[in-house]
Amino acid sequence: MYDFAYHKPTSLADAVKLLADPDAKAVSGGHTLIPALKHRLNKPTALVDLSGIAEMKGIRREGNAIIIGALTRHVEVANSAEVKAAIPALAYLASHIGDVQVRNRGTIGGSVSNNDPAADYPAAVLGLGATIHTNKRKIAADDFFQGMFTTALEADEILERLLLPMVNEGARILEEGIASRPIDIDVIFTNGFGWPAWRGGPMFWADTLGLKAVRDKLNKYAEATGDKNLRPTALIEKLADEGGSFAAMGKSKV
Ligand SMILES: Cc1cc2nc3c(=O)[nH]c(=O)nc-3n(C[C@H](O)[C@H](O)[C@H](O)COP(=O)(O)OP(=O)(O)OC[C@H]3O[C@@H](n4cnc5c(N)ncnc54)[C@H](O)[C@@H]3O)c2cc1C
Repeated sequence: MYDFAYHKPTSLADAVKLLADPDAKAVSGGHTLIPALKHRLNKPTALVDLSGIAEMKGIRREGNAIIIGALTRHVEVANSAEVKAAIPALAYLASHIGDVQVRNRGTIGGSVSNNDPAADYPAAVLGLGATIHTNKRKIAADDFFQGMFTTALEADEILERLLLPMVNEGARILEEGIASRPIDIDVIFTNGFGWPAWRGGPMFWADTLGLKAVRDKLNKYAEATGDKNLRPTALIEKLADEGGSFAAMGKSKV
């Protein structure tokens, strides 16, 4: 093994901040990732342990659908009354994964994300025609699994959904005249709110995406969630239309 930082956030927002580091890696049960680290097949500088995030756990029924949180362990799927009643074959499958230790540590999210061709869940998810919900979108199983150990998950999946509202809020603060320059917002976020300094603050980061992309993504998330607050502010709309940037706007204000 080699040195790496270990973090155990208790909220999705904190996990996202930590995973903003491109060399950090999420770990759920660790049953695939830890052996990969031991064999140096993967070498993250930080591990972000998701197991303390309550909002990613649990099983519930919604109409005709069974919703299983990514952090739900195999033993919980095997013992779930909801799963046994609705999809007994899935409970049976979960009860036969590995051994007792594996079933008590391994998670459905880790197994599906890893997409090992020898794993049980990916076949079940495909066979059931399930839908994989990420922070950004819902992906049909047929589109999710793209080949051995490869899925449609994007590295920035969780990230954008949480960071773009901060960009929108920053733009609102500029519109209201509470701050006069985008760079002032970046300084506050990097020094006061734990925004990863190497990203240069939310307004700088938005410029790297391009404000047209920022506008389109905000509109997409607003539509997907029904959250009106995610609609891009008038300032973002204007800068996107003009091909402008927060950086150029900051210069003109100084
Ligand atoms: C001895 C042994 C026997 C096993 N037998 C079986 C078996 O019979 N059948 C079977 O199907 N499986 C088997 N497994 C695999 C086991 O089921 C684990 O569930 C699986 O390895 C991955 O789950 P995990 O939670 O441990 O993921 P981790 O090892 O924590 O993560 C795996 C990968 O997914 C990523 N990841 C984890 N969680 C998320 C998330 N929420 N969102 C996005 N990415 C994420 C990680 O960054 C990593 O790249 C076995 C494992 C062992 C060690």
